[in-house]
Amino acid sequence: MRYSAYSIIKQALSGNRLWTPAWREPEPKPHYDVIIVGGGGHGLSTAYYLAKEFGITNIAVLEKGYIGSGNVGRNTTIIRSNYLLEGNIPFYEFSLKLWEGLEQDFNYNAMVSQRGVMMLAHSDGQRDAYARRGNAMRMHGVDAELLDRKQLQTLMPYLNYDHARFPILAGLLQKRGGTVRHDAVAWGYARGADMRGVDIIQHCEVNAIRRDEQGRVTGVETNKGFIGCNKLALATAGHSSETARMAGLELPIETHVLQAFVSEGIKPVVDHVIVYGAGHFYISQSDKGGLVFGADIDYYSSYAQRGNLATVEHTMEEGVSLIPGLSRGKVLRAWGGVMDMSMDGSPIIDRTPIDNLYLNAGWCYGGFKATPASGFCFAHLIAKNESHHVSRFLRLDRFERGHMIDEAGKGPQPNIH
Ligand SMILES: Cc1cc2nc3c(=O)[nH]c(=O)nc-3n(C[C@H](O)[C@H](O)[C@H](O)COP(=O)(O)OP(=O)(O)OC[C@H]3O[C@@H](n4cnc5c(N)ncnc54)[C@H](O)[C@@H]3O)c2cc1C
Repeated sequence: MRYSAYSIIKQALSGNRLWTPAWREPEPKPHYDVIIVGGGGHGLSTAYYLAKEFGITNIAVLEKGYIGSGNVGRNTTIIRSNYLLEGNIPFYEFSLKLWEGLEQDFNYNAMVSQRGVMMLAHSDGQRDAYARRGNAMRMHGVDAELLDRKQLQTLMPYLNYDHARFPILAGLLQKRGGTVRHDAVAWGYARGADMRGVDIIQHCEVNAIRRDEQGRVTGVETNKGFIGCNKLALATAGHSSETARMAGLELPIETHVLQAFVSEGIKPVVDHVIVYGAGHFYISQSDKGGLVFGADIDYYSSYAQRGNLATVEHTMEEGVSLIPGLSRGKVLRAWGGVMDMSMDGSPIIDRTPIDNLYLNAGWCYGGFKATPASGFCFAHLIAKNESHHVSRFLRLDRFERGHMIDEAGKGPQPNIH
């Protein structure tokens, strides 16, 4: 069923009785060409692009919970391509371009809102660094504008310019950045993949990876039995180390918790995405009026999808120091997700040393914005056995070779990235 104004009117006239489920609930087949483990944004978009762009449709996506129950439905919905390094800018810009046409492409309203992402600078050194980043972006054909304090005061009068410990000096604006309704992304990709014949199998947990005598992957053991495949693709985000370990692979990844918060609904006030450069606080306002915000990861490894109070306090302090008016609001909900923190803060889309095993991991807390490009590039890799040119730097062996993509300059300290 194609969604359109016509279909809404038709449904309304028939008492909304003709809607069909957006995807099927199939039983697993004994064997697939490709099995994707993980029904998050990256697994579902990979299935979608494999079917749509590369004509491979005999695919199963195996998800241990329900789709959207992982980070794709837990993030703060920010999309942008304001990166600095060669390995990242073209990849994230490709993603932003895919976001720009996504709703038409998969015929689903994902509420893509290009409201602008502003990164604030609080020292001369930081302003210089943002100028450099903006120039790097422009050299790659990506939009970037450096605004001075006066321009910021006109655009965002509610920020604390003078009385904060770190006064605001400038801001790097990417107008094409913004937000997207996160769970609609999972649903849109799931529906688009299902329409093309992909089996999305929920509540199907992979417990082991089976390999033959030559070491090649031949399938997975699940709570629904053994399922065979020609190619196995892991897209399990915060559980990447666990699933890779099932094939005997140790990854340069640690899992940490990231928390997010939403306030009670208030009148429109924050009409951009704002990133506080003196801390790591970011905030936007949802269409329902809730202020959606977050900050740093919790500083220890954990697989629990909940964080600690010290980080809650730290986040609130940063928020109030940037927007004093926040202190009068009420937090409605808080939650956590588990992040696959790589040792240089950049992701991995690559083949592995194990035959038939493909890896998509290391998204840290920035993988939502990458969802379209990650799916497209991973599908390209699985279908053609070679990297897409925008993801060619996102190799697993860069840690062995020392060719890190250390965007944040933090080195192998995932708790700082
Ligand atoms: C609080 C928070 C805020 C964030 N904010 C942003 C943001 O503003 N912008 C941004 O770009 N990124 C953000 N991120 C990061 C982003 O959400 C993730 O990097 C991205 O969603 C990870 O990819 P995914 O969607 O495929 O992950 P997930 O949705 O987590 O998908 C992985 C799936 O694998 C499944 N799985 C795991 N193990 C198995 C198994 N053994 N068998 C079967 N299935 C399995 C899991 O159940 C899960 O559903 C944020 C994350 C969090 C938690």
